Parts: sequence; structure tokens; C-alpha cells
Amino acid sequence: MSTKVATGRETKVNEILGAFALSPGSTVSGVAYGGAFATNPAGAVLDTFDPCTGEVLAHIQTAGESDVARAVAEGEKAFVRWRTVPAPQRGEIVRRLGNGFRQRKEDLARLISLENGKILTEARGEVQEVIDICDLAVGQSRQLFGKEIASERRDHRLIEQWHPLGVVGIISAFNFPVAVPGWGWALALVCGDTIAWKPSSLTPLISIAAQKIYHEVTAGTDAEGAFSLVIGRGGAVGEALLADQRVPLIQATGSCALGERVSAAVARRSAKAILELGGNNAVVVLADADLNLATRAVVFGAVGTAGQRCTSTRRLILQKPIAEKFLERLTAAYRTVSIGDPLEAQTLMGPLISSDAVNDYREGLAEMQKQGGHVIYGGSVLDGKGGYFVEPAIVKSKADMPIVREEVFAPILHVFEVDTIEEAIELSNSVPQGLSSGLFTTNLTSAERWLSATGSDCGIANVNVGTSGAEIGGAFGGEKATGGGRQAGSDAWKGYMRRQTCTINYGSELPLAQGVSFPVD
Ligand code: NAD
Repeated sequence: MSTKVATGRETKVNEILGAFALSPGSTVSGVAYGGAFATNPAGAVLDTFDPCTGEVLAHIQTAGESDVARAVAEGEKAFVRWRTVPAPQRGEIVRRLGNGFRQRKEDLARLISLENGKILTEARGEVQEVIDICDLAVGQSRQLFGKEIASERRDHRLIEQWHPLGVVGIISAFNFPVAVPGWGWALALVCGDTIAWKPSSLTPLISIAAQKIYHEVTAGTDAEGAFSLVIGRGGAVGEALLADQRVPLIQATGSCALGERVSAAVARRSAKAILELGGNNAVVVLADADLNLATRAVVFGAVGTAGQRCTSTRRLILQKPIAEKFLERLTAAYRTVSIGDPLEAQTLMGPLISSDAVNDYREGLAEMQKQGGHVIYGGSVLDGKGGYFVEPAIVKSKADMPIVREEVFAPILHVFEVDTIEEAIELSNSVPQGLSSGLFTTNLTSAERWLSATGSDCGIANVNVGTSGAEIGGAFGGEKATGGGRQAGSDAWKGYMRRQTCTINYGSELPLAQGVSFPVD
């Protein structure tokens, strides 16, 4: 009898999966509703991979159409009960959910690092975002306020109030597998809604682990059954959710192409959508900028999360007098970035998510060069490391290259030079997407110009802060092809409720609005 000795990696994988009662190579249900995992989902089995090695981590039983229908039905059942629970008590459950994530922060962060490939500090930050949005939502649960409007009619009161919507369909991307869905569900829950979640099929184990936390916390409470999970391919499971008449709101995070699909599907049945789509984010560095700040922000924005954030810095616009000096600093900083296992403390850049992502990187760079771009740093696929590792790349590009208008979801940074802030703003705004943007300057006039109505056209416009790494207190989202949706803080909660305008007559006359006369006995 031979005993297999586990390698260091195997031990790590065992431990990380074991923390959520999962084991390498096992087959796991990717469907849950009514507060429990379904035992025999109807969809095909899909594999999930370790992006550091390309090896299979586990096999996931995905949802079939009947599972989606059942998940929504169970969500509706839970909604009938949940909407009657006073909002501050709903907030109490969300407080406990936040605590559930606090307790499992390290375990979940390690699982995120393992399956998604982001470095551990960023994975911890991602779980922290869930905790933070829960805290915000708890406070919000006592502030779901409407307003009173002056009525033009005597003895009338005109008010606006907010009610729960129903089952919210959350379709999420691989790159923020728990935080971005969390921005939705934490608010949706305090608003009185329930959830049907279709996560990315690239990060199924992370969503299964999160679902286990939801179950643990909500079991035996009024929120039991409020979370349904349907893992599966977008074209099948996602489409089934989009088409379901019982789902009044779809929160969709993903590529601009996904947004077009969601818009068309929800428009057909007059449902609502919160769209959080691709970005193509620019940092502008003016000649008077603090170059030290700017360098650090650009490296984090372009290389952090291996360039796989919606807010990743994809375009760098330099004012000519400092362009050469800045690029020297930048390439020097790039050289210090260690690429490797995201679970190791010294690693600053982990792998891409998949072999398809590596192909997109390779093809994107080839196309950039074909269109006249000149690679000045990196650009290689690191085949020798195993898994899906690439070097971050910097490309001197021309503004009229068609590929500059696209979001290539990889650590590739286009660089441009300009003479004036006006040119920089025009270039920054010249792409279809409008998510995040940052200007580096020490000049007040330039900063205010950037933030004015004729400045950046993005949903997020920063000064001396990069494009990446927003706080949850502000409303998050972007304009143009980024979809126009807003999530997280500020008044984003309103997207998860239905607005009702109410007129109450406490008099004995029936005056009509606009002075209309309609005399009947
Ligand atoms: P993706 O568009 O490939 O997939 C996103 C989700 O949509 C997945 O769950 C996928 O299965 C699902 N999907 C795909 N086709 C579908 C269909 N026809 N019907 C229903 N669902 C479908 O995106 P990705 O590669 O997972 O993530 C990267 C993209 O997400 C990037 O474009 C990034 O900018 C964007 N993103 C945006 C934000 C934001 O807040 N703006 C946040 C994170 C990621």
C-alpha cells in the first residue's frame, strides 16, 4: 500500500477548502434555496480551477432551468414573510450577517485568494467590504425615509414612501465574488427584498462558502430562505433568471456585452436593472503633480488585482514635461512587483483567472502592436510558472487606435502624452465607458476644472487618488457604457425599493389637481 504524501500546495488547498467543509476534487451542489443546498441540481457539472496551477479544485453541480424557477419561487415565499418584518429588525439580521463575515474573514479571504487568485491583502479587503456594507445597511435600515411634498390642494397631504420590491436577481462577476454581490444583498435585505444569486461560474466555491455563511446566520430567523443560489453558465442559468417575470430587479455586474443583454431582457418585461459594467479608466498626471503619489496610485491601479478590477487603471495620460521622468519611475516600480502565489505575503500580483483570460491578454497585446502600439514594459505570458501568470505590460499607444476604446481585462496600461489639461480631459472622456478616473495635480484650478461639468464624465472622479479602491460610503457606478447603475452607499438603497406617491384627502371636498372641474352629483 502506498501512502500519498501531500505537497505544500495540496496541504494549503486542503486546509482552505476544509474550512468550509469542502474538499479537493469533490463534487458539490451549486444550488441552494429555502435555506438549504439542493441535493440533485438539474444542470451540468462544471469544474473550477486553481489559477496558480491550472488544476481542478472541485466539480460543481449547476442549476437547471427548473432549479432557477424553484429558487425564485422559494425567494418569493420568503419575501411574503420578510417584507412584513420591521426594517430595523431586518437590519438586525444584516448586522448578524456582517458578524458572520467578520468571524470567517480569514477563511473566506484565503478561499478568495485560492480560487480567484487575488493577493491575500486584497482578498481580506474584499471580505472587509462585505462587513462594511453590512454596517452601512444596518444604519440604513432605520433611515428608509420618504418625504412630504406641499400639496396644491386644500386639506390634502402629498407624500412619497418606499416599499420592498420582491426577489432581486443578482448576477455577479468573478473579480469581486463576494463584495459586489454584498453591496446588493445587504441593502436589498434591509429594504425587505430577498435574493436569487447567480454568481460567476469561474468562482463557484467562493459563492458556495458565502452561501453557507448566509445559511448559518439566517437559520431559524425571519430571513431563512431569503438567499437562493443558482450557479451555472450565463447563457443558461443567467438567461433563465433574466427572463423570470417574478424578478422585478436585476443587479448585473459584468462586461458591457452582458449589460446589453440584460438591458434587452429586462426591457422586454419592463423590469428594473442596476447595471455595473466595464470600465476603461484613465489617470491624468499633470506637470505639477506629486509624482511619488501618482506613481504609487498608478501601479496599484494598473497592476493590483492583476488588472482585473472594473476600476483598474487602463490608460495613463501624462503632461509632456514630466512624461519621460514619470515613465522611468513607473517602470522602476513595475520591476519591483513580485508575481506569484497570491497566498504568499511578498506577492503583489497573482495569476489571471483563467486560460481564456491569458489568451485575451496575449491577443490584446498583439492587436495593440498591430494598431501601432509600442510595448515598453512586460508583455510576456509566464508559462514557466504553471497556472495563468502574465507580466504586467505598459504600451505607448495612439489615441486613435480602436482597441484603446475596449476594456481588455488584464494588466495592460496604455500611455499617452498631452500638452494641456483640456486635451487630457478630452482624451480621458473619449472612450465608450465612464466608470472611474483620477487627476494628479497640486493646482486647485486644475483640480476644480477636472471635477466641473466640463471635466471628467465618469461616475467616479478623483483628485490625487487613483481609479481603483472606492469606499462603500459613496454611491459606486459609472456612466455611458458602464451602465449608469449605482450601488453601495449614498442613496443607492432606493434602487432596491419601489417608490410610491400617496395623496391623502382629509377634507370634505374633492378638488382636482391643476384646477380641473368635473361636476357630477
Ligand atoms: P462577464 O460579463 O463575463 O460575466 C459576469 C456575469 O454575467 C457572470 O455571472 C456570467 O455568468 C453572467 N452572464 C454572462 N452572460 C450572461 C447572459 N447572457 N445572461 C445572464 N448572465 C450572463 O464578466 P466577468 O468576466 O465575470 O467580469 C469582468 C467584467 O465585469 C469586466 O468587464 C469588469 O469591468 C466588470 N465589472 C464591473 C463592475 C462594476 O461595478 N462596474 C464590478 C466588477 C466587474
